[in-house]
Amino acid sequence: MIDRPYMVRTRKSGVVTSTLHPLTTADGLAISVSRLAHPQATDVCLLIHGLTTSSDMFVMPEHYGLAAYLHDQGFEVWLADFRMSNHFGHNITGSFTFEDIAAYDWPAIVGFIRSAIGNRRLHVVAHCLGSATFHHALYGKSVDGITSVVSNSISLHARVHPWSFAKLVVAPFLVDKVLRLPYLDPGWAERENKSKPWLGRAIARAVGLVHLECNEDACNMVSFIWGTGAPAIFQHDQMSPITHGRVGELFGPIAMPYFRNVRSAVWHNNTFGRYSDKPEHQRFPARYIDNVGDVRVPTLLLSGDKNNIFPGSNKLTAERIAAKGIDGYEYREIANYGHQDLFMGKDCDRDTFPVMVDFLHRVIAR
Ligand SMILES: [Zn+2]
Repeated sequence: MIDRPYMVRTRKSGVVTSTLHPLTTADGLAISVSRLAHPQATDVCLLIHGLTTSSDMFVMPEHYGLAAYLHDQGFEVWLADFRMSNHFGHNITGSFTFEDIAAYDWPAIVGFIRSAIGNRRLHVVAHCLGSATFHHALYGKSVDGITSVVSNSISLHARVHPWSFAKLVVAPFLVDKVLRLPYLDPGWAERENKSKPWLGRAIARAVGLVHLECNEDACNMVSFIWGTGAPAIFQHDQMSPITHGRVGELFGPIAMPYFRNVRSAVWHNNTFGRYSDKPEHQRFPARYIDNVGDVRVPTLLLSGDKNNIFPGSNKLTAERIAAKGIDGYEYREIANYGHQDLFMGKDCDRDTFPVMVDFLHRVIAR
C-alpha cells in the first residue's frame, strides 16, 4: 500500500475525497496525514492506526468504515500515517522507540492539524500501538490541546498471554541473530512469490500447519506474530470474507524493536515507562501513568472481551487510574470482539462505532 487520496463513501455527503498532506518529522522521516474536510463541523477527530497497518483500516470500501461513519456523525476526520504505517518502510528500514514517535510524529501531526483547524475541538481515536505511542506523547507532554481520547486495546499498560510473552522474550534474538531475518512478514504467506525469502515462506508454511483454524496463511501469520489464539488478531465471525482475504495487504512486516519496547513494559509491572536512552528523550517521565492527573483528558478505554493480543491491558490502565482517584476515564469491554475487529469488523457500524460516538457526544455535551 502507498499514500494516496481516499474516495470515502459517506451516507450523508456522498463520496468525499481526502486531501493528503505529506509531513517531515523533526528527525527527518516522511510521514503523512489525510483530511476528510467537513466545513460545518465544530469537532475534529484524528484516527490513528496500529503497527503495521495504516489509515486504510479506517477506510475499507467493503463496509461502512469509521472515517465515513464519523463524517456522517458531523465530525471532520483526519487520518494519520505515522512511522508505524505500512505505507512507508520506516518500520523495517530503521530502529525506533515509542519515545521517538512521541517526540517527533505526534507533535508533527497534531501541530499540522491544529494549524489547519484553528480552535475547533480535536478528539483522537487510536488503535493498539498507535494508542500506546499517542499516550506516550500525551502523558509525556509532547502534545496537548486534545479534548478526548478513545483508545482500543492498549494505552499505558501492556499485558499479554504467557505464550505471547515467551515470544516477546525469544523472538528478537531468534529472528535477528539466529535466523538473521530483518523482520516477520505476513506477506511470506505468498508461497510461490520468489521475491520473499525462502526461510520466511517456510516459516509461514509451518505456522499454517499449527494454526488449523484458518486456511489463509497471512491470517495465521498475523496471529502467530502478534498474539495467542486461534485466531489471535480478531474473531473470524466478525470479519467479512473480503477483509479476511486482504489481511496480507492490510498488515505489513514487523521488525524486532517493537518486541523489545513492549517486552520492557510487560517486564516492568506491565507499565509503560521511558524506554529510550537517548539524551533528548530524558524529558519523558520514568512511568507515563504517573503524569495522569497532571495531564487530564477524558478517555474511553476499550477492549474486546476476546482480545488475544493485549488482553486486559486497557482494563489495567483504567484500574490504575481509578486507584489514583482520578475521574473522567472509562473502561468498556465489547462482547464477542477481539483486537482488530473493533475497527475492521463487518458490523462495527452496529456494534462498536456507536459506543465511540456516544462517548464523544457525552464529552462534547459537558
Ligand atoms: Zn483467518
